[in-house]
Amino acid sequence: MGMGKYVKIKGSMGPNTYISVHELSNETVYATVEKPYRTTFDPDERDTPEEWCPFLAEGEEEGTYVCVIHGTRPGFCRDFVCASMRIYTQDGVEAGKVSGKGSLVSSDAQLNTLWKEQINPIITGTDEAWKTKAIEVLEPEGYRIEVYD
Ligand code: SF4
Repeated sequence: MGMGKYVKIKGSMGPNTYISVHELSNETVYATVEKPYRTTFDPDERDTPEEWCPFLAEGEEEGTYVCVIHGTRPGFCRDFVCASMRIYTQDGVEAGKVSGKGSLVSSDAQLNTLWKEQINPIITGTDEAWKTKAIEVLEPEGYRIEVYD
């Protein structure tokens, strides 16, 4: 929702295909609008906020959002690691984030040790189950956890 500053449409190559530049990674892509959005997507008539990426649209269900060029989105977007959990210190500083099936990215030594010794062994079964246990381990150690679906 803040990528409008960096993702620009520079031109069109025909119906549903746009020349787009991602200014953070300096890449040009030929962005093709996915079939379900071809009749509704029109960058000249967009009613989304200016700061949004021009390819970000509201989904069918309220509160959902879609990238209308998902299959041809820039490499910068492909490399962006979404987090399923973020872990904060008591001061509100992000201590780590979790992506995929329980992969922790953190430079916090204590958190890395806790993850390795107490959480990695319980990463089995459903996401909900191990995340609940992870919270039970981390909160008493002073971390605050945010979990995303
Ligand atoms: S993933 Fe799609 S909507 Fe999001 S910034 Fe990239 S091109 Fe825009």
